[in-house]
Amino acid sequence: MNHRTVPPSGQLERWLTGPRFGPLPVPAETAPLLSFEFFPPRTEALETQLWTCVRRLEPLRPRFVSVTYGAGGTTQARTHATVSRLAAETSLVPAAHLTCIGATREEVDAVARAYWQAGVRHIVALRGDPPHGETYQPHPGGYAYAADLVAGLKRVADFEISVAAYPETHPGAASPSADLDNLKRKLDAGASRAITQYFFDARVYLEFLDRCVAAGIQAPIVPGIMPVSNFAQAVKFSALCGASVPDWLGHLFEGTEDDTETRRMVAAVVAAEQVRLLQANGVDEFHFYTLNRSDLTYAIAHILGARPAAVAAR
Ligand SMILES: Cc1cc2nc3c(=O)[nH]c(=O)nc-3n(C[C@H](O)[C@H](O)[C@H](O)COP(=O)(O)OP(=O)(O)OC[C@H]3O[C@@H](n4cnc5c(N)ncnc54)[C@H](O)[C@@H]3O)c2cc1C
Repeated sequence: MNHRTVPPSGQLERWLTGPRFGPLPVPAETAPLLSFEFFPPRTEALETQLWTCVRRLEPLRPRFVSVTYGAGGTTQARTHATVSRLAAETSLVPAAHLTCIGATREEVDAVARAYWQAGVRHIVALRGDPPHGETYQPHPGGYAYAADLVAGLKRVADFEISVAAYPETHPGAASPSADLDNLKRKLDAGASRAITQYFFDARVYLEFLDRCVAAGIQAPIVPGIMPVSNFAQAVKFSALCGASVPDWLGHLFEGTEDDTETRRMVAAVVAAEQVRLLQANGVDEFHFYTLNRSDLTYAIAHILGARPAAVAAR
């Protein structure tokens, strides 16, 4: 080891030329409000993976867990089965995603009524996406947009409703301000919060909050956090949903393609930095896109201050 007691002139000074950053504040003593998103499993192996994930995250007592909804009958049945099982076998509060795609109003209302009868009181109301490569066309006789769905759901029963928000603007929106007007319409129609599309740059989200407040929005705009476990896949998916991938993120994952352990550590640090920065800016509600894997979500929720509680057997 080279013990150099006095650094050569000029070398240390170069560390002293930039701005000084203080440490991030110590997390608040009150744990943040968390929610976790799952997707309904397609195979038995994925089913096992989902339930391992659910059981691991359950003691963190999220305020709700949501289950996504795909186009087409079989995926919708899987959503219903997963939501019903969560309601029946766990201590968790399930929220069912529901979309406008490919169904009449009566059909959508019937699904909502079945959820209400099964004890499900929370719906994440979405327009949904057309099959890849097609442009969106409202179903004749269906709910055209999420705002219409929210109003329709409120007519079915007094559901708690969450909707989607896009810090980087929905890719199909006429303009950022038209998209913000749409978000306001969804909240005015009866939604009590919005959950954002994921983003990687905290500033993008914080500036979006400023725009929401300026537009008169008061409801919480909960950040959607996606811990990245596979960078290449995240790039592909982000191109489809209009989330930008900053160069620095690519740089952090560079060279980790065949090095799972390093990649997962980098992923944890990236997500932890993101949520800590949001927390330091006052954000205390977080929605995690778990991709049915618990490890990164659990660790990041822990960093935010969540601690496990005993779960009553059911
Ligand atoms: C938290 C979250 C969860 C999601 N879960 C699912 C899921 O489970 N299943 C699924 O299939 N997809 C899901 N998605 C994706 C979502 O369905 C797509 O992003 C979809 O393209 C838009 O849905 P929305 O509810 O935001 O639509 P809307 O709010 O209806 O907006 C869609 C677009 O139409 C525009 N618009 C709205 N009203 C009008 C109008 N009257 N005239 C013209 N333009 C209008 C908006 O500005 C926007 O560009 C999710 C997205 C998020 C952020």
